[in-house]
Amino acid sequence: MKRVRLFSLVLLAAMALTQGMGQTIERIEPPSWFSGMNERSLQLMVYGKEIGSFDIKADYPGVEVKTVIKTDNPNYLFVNLDIGPDALPGTIKLRFTRGKAILNRDYPLLEKPSGMARGFDGSDVIYLLMPDRFSNGDPSNDNVEGMAERNNRSNPGGLHGGDLKGIGNSLEYLKNLGVTGIWLNPFLENNQPSYSYHGYSTTDFYRVDPRYGTNDEFRQLVAGVHDKGMKVVMDMIFNHCGSGHWWMKDLPARDWIHQFDRFTRTNYKASTYMDPYAAESDRRLMEEGWFDVTMPDLNQGNPLVENYLTQNSLWWIAWAGIDGIRMDTYPYPEPDMMSRWVKRVTDEFPGFFVVGEVWYDDPAHMSYWALNKENSDGYRSNLPSLTDLPLCFSTHRAFTLPGANEGMTDLYNLLSQDFLYPEPHRNVIFLDNHDMTRFFTETGNSLDNYKMGLSFILTTRGIPQIYYGTEIIMEGDKKRGDGYLREDFPGGWPGDKKNAFTGENLTPDEKQAYEFTRDLLNWRKGNGVIHTGKLKHYVPENGVYVYFRYDSDESVMVIINRSDEIKKLMTDRFSESLNGYTSGTEIMTGHVIADLSSIELSPRTAMIIELKK
Ligand code: CA
Repeated sequence: MKRVRLFSLVLLAAMALTQGMGQTIERIEPPSWFSGMNERSLQLMVYGKEIGSFDIKADYPGVEVKTVIKTDNPNYLFVNLDIGPDALPGTIKLRFTRGKAILNRDYPLLEKPSGMARGFDGSDVIYLLMPDRFSNGDPSNDNVEGMAERNNRSNPGGLHGGDLKGIGNSLEYLKNLGVTGIWLNPFLENNQPSYSYHGYSTTDFYRVDPRYGTNDEFRQLVAGVHDKGMKVVMDMIFNHCGSGHWWMKDLPARDWIHQFDRFTRTNYKASTYMDPYAAESDRRLMEEGWFDVTMPDLNQGNPLVENYLTQNSLWWIAWAGIDGIRMDTYPYPEPDMMSRWVKRVTDEFPGFFVVGEVWYDDPAHMSYWALNKENSDGYRSNLPSLTDLPLCFSTHRAFTLPGANEGMTDLYNLLSQDFLYPEPHRNVIFLDNHDMTRFFTETGNSLDNYKMGLSFILTTRGIPQIYYGTEIIMEGDKKRGDGYLREDFPGGWPGDKKNAFTGENLTPDEKQAYEFTRDLLNWRKGNGVIHTGKLKHYVPENGVYVYFRYDSDESVMVIINRSDEIKKLMTDRFSESLNGYTSGTEIMTGHVIADLSSIELSPRTAMIIELKK
């Protein structure tokens, strides 16, 4: 038996050698595609020694090779396929030939998922979590053979072992908390020697990092999230890859990335795009400079790169069934390409949600990238949503400025600039995220500030995002290093004494914060006027900021008293909003306000009042 098997193996190897004449195909990307896509063209990137000198044929009804593109690297071949509307799901036979050498490959054509994308809007609250730091559901994948970095939980900047399985185990917790979606920080392969835990140095755009799980496990996680009535946002990075990316050893083309004689860093000056006085060299450096030493800058100006990235995002949407994309460093790639990319995604999947990480501290610069914004230079963005950093910074100032009225006025002034956005309610709003000091820490570890901040962000306009651990007042100071902003969620690791999932060993303050967040989120979930109602606010006075979310049937009044005083708020100033309403109920305490003409305010407290006619 043994000899027969050995003989067969030798024979097979000999056949393979004759057929391919020593050539092999190492990769074809995307690894599969979908029938029934609106866009018929598909561009395969084929990688293998000298594959560039091969011819290719596709044997499949409805599928045709249109053109092939060769680059300055003979080890790549870009193949433009036409997938006709009649092409059914199945296996496309690809045949590569050069003289007598033949290479055959099966290429899966899958079925495109049907139906509209669910999208995200004001009815949602997105929970942002970092896969390495949330829950370790599978300690057996903490270290994986072939991956450069080893697990080390004692290093704040090291790998800690969290994974997709851990997230999957936590879905009931998240549902009970009252969020409607989760945004995962990146989890694609980051085979970097250090700091691989944050996930922003992709080394394979088509593979889940094996320390977090497998592609199939991710797809199962998405299905599990959907079963709980929630949605998934996937973090993507088009601006750069990781220096450990497999193609860095053999670039598909010289101009696949931006190359310089020596390391050249971006100036991070995203204002150079719209600044009418910006020097061309500064603008170019913004776009082409590298984000970091370990993050080579991809050249989206090369149409092959544009196709590669675009198809990669479409593949994850169709293959895994994700509901949204958070695009990292949105203004750093080529802006026209990004605009075309969003259009392609939303044309293919109508209603699909994309939020761009756009980082400025003022709405003027931000709004340049907003959907339907008419910019004087003609740039038109198709981006459905922006990360509202100006509002985030304003919430920090609102609760740290020395004067209570000064703080509340900051929020008021910031929102008054919403005229710059065609649709400000599309913005994703938040108190903090994985890149900044946590709101609780920033505002002085004060439970009062925490409650006022959360009350604001969950009742003003926009799509709220909360960062994991907010619900148990986790601390994190940027000055200590990024690892401290992303500490392990308690209860996510075997042996954790404190367990946020069960409430075990939480301090009284942590318990109080959890209950406050849960109650507020669950109230918000069922409150349509907060999801879609208009916003009207009044000039802050004496440290008190008052606003209403309202429509023709309902109104919710929010009063934030940042001052340290008990106050009696006379409400005649708000008559245009209170007209027709006679009483109200404060939703967190259940306290009924029978007479709206004056309202008693506790110091440093937000009141959320459902008004009654
Ligand atoms: Ca693990």
